[in-house]
Amino acid sequence: MPIYEYRCKDCGEVFEKIQPARAKQKGMPCPKCTGKETERIMSCFSSGSRVKAQAACPPAG
Ligand SMILES: [Zn+2]
Repeated sequence: MPIYEYRCKDCGEVFEKIQPARAKQKGMPCPKCTGKETERIMSCFSSGSRVKAQAACPPAG
């Protein structure tokens, strides 16, 4: 199963969740502040730029 990363919009915490590919959960509660204002990001995003979740992960390198 793919590993998704979420970022909390409240405290900036980034955490990982392993979910089935068909999971439709939007807001994963933040483990740090329990806030629900989180957004899913790709684990392969490069620093400085955001990559939308629907974008395919490019091969490493
Ligand atoms: Zn948070």
